[in-house]
Amino acid sequence: QATVVLAATPIGNTGDASQRLRELLQYADVVAAEDTRRVLDLARRLNVRISGSITAFHDHNEREKSDRLLDGVEQGDCVLVVSDAGMPTINDPGLAIVRRAIERGIAVTCAPGPSAVLDALALSGLPTDRFCYEGFLPRKHTDRMRHLRMLQTEPRTIVFYETTHRIAQSMDDLLEVFGPDRPMALARELTKEYEQIRRGTIEQIRHSVQSDPPRGELVLVIGGASAQEIAAQAEHSGAVLSVEQAAQ
Ligand code: SAM
Repeated sequence: QATVVLAATPIGNTGDASQRLRELLQYADVVAAEDTRRVLDLARRLNVRISGSITAFHDHNEREKSDRLLDGVEQGDCVLVVSDAGMPTINDPGLAIVRRAIERGIAVTCAPGPSAVLDALALSGLPTDRFCYEGFLPRKHTDRMRHLRMLQTEPRTIVFYETTHRIAQSMDDLLEVFGPDRPMALARELTKEYEQIRRGTIEQIRHSVQSDPPRGELVLVIGGASAQEIAAQAEHSGAVLSVEQAAQ
């Protein structure tokens, strides 16, 4: 069928590949992959053969390449978009082709599946009824602190992606902005053999990161600000807000 399909790929456990992903890999006319070697490796592990053409589709070429791929869809192609792991567009390529498809009135659909955001959120034990996803924190310390301060009174659960070489510094920054007592979870290597979820307060997780630095891929989940914290912050900044208002 002539369409663009964004398909989620496993984030560690090959068994999480959906039947639909397998079929799309086999039958799509074009597979637009963040890394062509990785998608070939995935197909090999899934024991499927990619019959269409494979083309590199990454952060540096997705804008210019989207129109060419969509021209193909107008000629009848099914274009499959996959990233290295998880859901395309979630801190991965894909948004450019979705936007252009919408602008050009071309059908775009999704074969959903694994994504580290939802996996970590669901396992965190923190409220899941509303949350915000913040991707990776800015690299520069001053930018990171400014960004975190903007989230100081965020009432929803907050999800960040993090890397092993910045986690120690980020824990210091989280402690400084959110204080020691906020509940949080640190998820690592989700769906893989060494999957681990550390849960506790920011202070406890910071200590755990110092004494046992986590390796592999990481997600941080931070509890949202309580009504009391929001009211206290508002008072600090001169605004008058009741705890009930702050809770809204
Ligand atoms: N598109 C992906 C998704 O839907 O989750 C995210 C891609 S982003 C470039 C890669 C980051 O996602 C990693 O640095 C890590 O923070 C997180 N991540 C991906 N796989 C993970 C896993 N198995 N366990 C924990 N975090 C993971």
